[in-house]
Amino acid sequence: MDLRYPERVARFADEVRAFVRKELPPEIRDKVQRRQKVSVEEVKLWQSKLCSRGWACPGWPKEHGGPGFDALERMIFDNVTNEEGAPTVVPFGEVMFAPVLFAVGSPEQKAHFLPKIRTLDYWFCQGFSEPGSGSDLASLRTRAVLEGDEWVINGQKMWTSGAHNANYIFMLVRTDPDAKLQEGISMLVFPMSTPGVTVRPIVTMDGEHHTNETFFDNVRVPKTAMIGEVNKGWTYAKLLLGHERTSIARIGQSKRELGRLKALASEQSTNGLPLMNHAPFRDRVAAVEIELMALEITAMRAIAKGGSPGVEANLLKVKGSELQQRLTELFMDAAGPYGLPFDPERGLENGNEPIGFDEAASLGPNYLMTRVVTIYGGSNEIQRNIVSKTLGL
Ligand SMILES: Cc1cc2nc3c(=O)[nH]c(=O)nc-3n(C[C@H](O)[C@H](O)[C@H](O)COP(=O)(O)OP(=O)(O)OC[C@H]3O[C@@H](n4cnc5c(N)ncnc54)[C@H](O)[C@@H]3O)c2cc1C
Repeated sequence: MDLRYPERVARFADEVRAFVRKELPPEIRDKVQRRQKVSVEEVKLWQSKLCSRGWACPGWPKEHGGPGFDALERMIFDNVTNEEGAPTVVPFGEVMFAPVLFAVGSPEQKAHFLPKIRTLDYWFCQGFSEPGSGSDLASLRTRAVLEGDEWVINGQKMWTSGAHNANYIFMLVRTDPDAKLQEGISMLVFPMSTPGVTVRPIVTMDGEHHTNETFFDNVRVPKTAMIGEVNKGWTYAKLLLGHERTSIARIGQSKRELGRLKALASEQSTNGLPLMNHAPFRDRVAAVEIELMALEITAMRAIAKGGSPGVEANLLKVKGSELQQRLTELFMDAAGPYGLPFDPERGLENGNEPIGFDEAASLGPNYLMTRVVTIYGGSNEIQRNIVSKTLGL
């Protein structure tokens, strides 16, 4: 079997690589590679470069302002930009919400939102989970009641990542409490500045503020905030979550981390030998590399199939997230004692000297934060349930 890319695709990969190396400011690339926080302004700067090149929103068709990549180009683009240290796409608007708009958004909603998602003028968060409604999302209780021309929203969302930076939210609300659980849910989109919205930070165990609790107290939004039809939100959420799960596989990012792991393990020595030359460690690195290749090929097959991601999205999420975690475990082993000192206040962003080698400061927090990838986007146990149901097991 010939696993090489066709000539035209290999040329495209070279073109993307050359573009990133020329246009991505080195200080942003260094931050990404050293796992430091990239600011909203830096992400927007990179997005503006992609917009100028016509490569913003790589998954979008031309008619909606995307580059119209085919499946293979799309995959290559994601992988190469990630390998080269470009900031990770903020998925909420571009990857998750936009495909729902393509499918069921009104002409006015498409015209209003899509150009602003493309430029990142609109920065979204996702209000799905609630206390007690995570895996069992269909039980969500946040209510929206129609009063005249307005929906009035009351309730609480949990784990609204990036809500503190977002200017818009798309969320699931219960619009028919008497219907079967899945049939009484709708999707609304509105500005975070709407009166009655309160965001309260949650600091995760890596010491950072990524996520929040968000409260809705008599929040009034116009009827036009409804996406698609009333009580069809569950169908749209499934479409959206398929795209979220595919993006969580993060193959390009894992390839970049694998390269850095090998470099680190070649620099660190144990008993006078580079760690990379120790067979047990090398075997673990090789196993991850092989599984990553297999994941990439599986992702290509899923993308090449076309249409909305199906059960393949669940498989990619499970495998991709597990590999991300295994890489962080190998990094911690390679760092030895330098992986341990961890004080969020001493982050390198604050101008502090690293303890041990340069990259060490980010490894502990990254290890801790990466525990979340098997939970968010739907926990891996739930993904496995879906796969087994689809296979009729
Ligand atoms: C850091 C972080 C960021 C997040 N960001 C967002 C966001 O931006 N927007 C958003 O809407 N949500 C977000 N989430 C929420 C995330 O999707 C949920 O945490 C996830 O779906 C799990 O739900 P839960 O936390 O309520 O856990 P639970 O559903 O209570 O599950 C607890 C445990 O039980 C297991 N379990 C539950 N049911 C079953 C079952 N039927 N079979 C087998 N095992 C089961 C689960 O796998 C898990 O291990 C985020 C979560 C975290 C931690």
